[in-house]
Amino acid sequence: MGGTGSDGWLERIGAINVWKRGDQRAPHKPLLILLALAAWRRTGTSRLSFDEAEPDLASLLRSFGPPSRSVSPQYPFVHLQSDGFWRLDADVPVGSSFTVTQLRNGVAGQFSPEFEAALSADPRLAPDVAHLVLAGDFPDSLHADICDAIGLDLDQLEVEVVHARVDRLVRRRDPQFREHVLRAYSQKCAMCGFGGLLSGQAIGVEAAHIRWHAADGPDHVTNGLALCTVHHKLFDRGVLGASADGEILVSANFAPMSEADDLYVTRLLGRELAPPQSAGERPESDHVGWHQEQVFSGPVRMTA
Ligand SMILES: [Zn+2]
Repeated sequence: MGGTGSDGWLERIGAINVWKRGDQRAPHKPLLILLALAAWRRTGTSRLSFDEAEPDLASLLRSFGPPSRSVSPQYPFVHLQSDGFWRLDADVPVGSSFTVTQLRNGVAGQFSPEFEAALSADPRLAPDVAHLVLAGDFPDSLHADICDAIGLDLDQLEVEVVHARVDRLVRRRDPQFREHVLRAYSQKCAMCGFGGLLSGQAIGVEAAHIRWHAADGPDHVTNGLALCTVHHKLFDRGVLGASADGEILVSANFAPMSEADDLYVTRLLGRELAPPQSAGERPESDHVGWHQEQVFSGPVRMTA
């Protein structure tokens, strides 16, 4: 058994699979681990009373467990204690002849304090545990369904891990940039005017940097444009650009293949960018010039 670093915990979790009996699937402990992980993620503690866990675990076992007449959530709830990272707050030893009624009487289980501390200390550990448990017992095609059913936001966990690692190395973005830019342009694409709302929220409209964030472009409204998703992509790839006086530029290198390509791209030729609400929010010509030189895929298309 490994030490108590993240690798040590992963070793312990991985070891639960060693005790599978022959060809029989044994997803009971893995599903309980995922359920406790989701609780930890949601509430800050992995503590689950058997009363809470029993219906969830039963339903998960019915959906993702082997076909069988009965599901028995009480066994993993008690037996996981033998793996060194799960405890019950009542004396129900593994191997004892306990009853379900005994557990329903308010007994709760929880990851050990050491394991919970390790999860908090290393943001990589929770998604690693989830992947390890899922990979040990289920095909890839089911992982997302299982996470959905459990309420475990694995994708978001992964994103946070990457951010935690990368944030130390790169310049942080100003979280208000998006809001400022969208407000300045009344939540509408400055090129086509797209500005639909879904439940009152702008959808498909983004705050684009004119001089890229990665090229030291400031998170300031004068370095921003509200663009719909399509025009944002085309702007960042240099199919579209802007002149110093706010005219939309279209690259001659872009080959329209359909009516829609004309509609989205070539018909913008010669149009003006929609102005922001106040003159002080207009794109700064330095940034526009940078985009034209460094990103725009010249030459400029002259006719539609
Ligand atoms: Zn647009």
